Amino acid sequence: MEQLGFDFGVTPRRLMKVTPARLSTFDDCPRRYRLAYVDRPTPQRTGPWAHSTLGAVVHNALRALFDLPAAERTPARAAALVGRHWKDAGFADSEQAAEYRRVAKDWVARYVADRDVSDDPRGVERWVSAPAAGGDGPASMIVEGRADRIDERDGELVVVDYKTGRRAPDEHEARSSQALALYAVASERTLHTPCRRVELHHLPSGTVAAAEHTPDSLRRQLTRAEETAGDLQQATDKLADGGDPDDLFPARTGRRCSWCDFRPSCPAGQQAGPAARSWDLLAPLRDDTGNDDTGDDGSADVGSADGGGEGGRGGTPARAAAGVDRSSGGVS
Ligand code: SF4
Repeated sequence: MEQLGFDFGVTPRRLMKVTPARLSTFDDCPRRYRLAYVDRPTPQRTGPWAHSTLGAVVHNALRALFDLPAAERTPARAAALVGRHWKDAGFADSEQAAEYRRVAKDWVARYVADRDVSDDPRGVERWVSAPAAGGDGPASMIVEGRADRIDERDGELVVVDYKTGRRAPDEHEARSSQALALYAVASERTLHTPCRRVELHHLPSGTVAAAEHTPDSLRRQLTRAEETAGDLQQATDKLADGGDPDDLFPARTGRRCSWCDFRPSCPAGQQAGPAARSWDLLAPLRDDTGNDDTGDDGSADVGSADGGGEGGRGGTPARAAAGVDRSSGGVS
């Protein structure tokens, strides 16, 4: 199978190490990138977010599930693992946390009931890494990160990413996700097995959004990643040479500032809008008929650390999240 921008015969020039999270952070807001990855000591951040806690619990439960022998991967065990890994960090109160603990148990139990989880994955929260280039030249960067799960099906790898946000992702999102594409490239190289298929497994809806990459589609994602990596490296180098941090890493304000982890350290973000509360970005609860009780379209994806939100807990956490959107993706 064709290798994608890998360089086996030429001594690489300076290789930039990039992760999908770093690239998307810089794309979203260079100031946020500087605060998260460049400034030391790390500037003051917000406290924990409930939606991040929820996502982490689900990820940890599913990781632990695949540590069990296949015969023990039952819905009941999966729900119990949610309870074992549960944390209340960021929730409004113990009552709200208990509601979401119950919901998360249901999500994970249904996932195990509906999906074949008997095969052992090639990797669970597996670190993958590969030198790569955006074009046909020598490698310019090392693409790396931790994939939620890497399956092997019919002799090829499949990158699986768990989502716990408000809205079920579609095929377009799976296909256009730079993070999933980079994980596919790095997984193929790390595990010496072809990898073209990527999947977003949305726990709240039980849906899977999948895409099959081609060499060209992966190359386009690598080209874009290389451009972003070059920009962020140049800004970092100029900062080290005494450049102006505000010019090199400009604040890109927007609704995201309401829930940005670094809002306490960013005056521009504070002026951009009101702060979201730590539970405002939770996925909506659903009633027994499976309908959101928000009445909105559930457009936010809060399955990872970034999310969007305004409004408040006006009676229910679901209504609190109504109207939220989210501008930052990434693979958690
Ligand atoms: S608060 Fe807004 S402008 Fe400031 S770092 Fe965060 S996203 Fe960027």
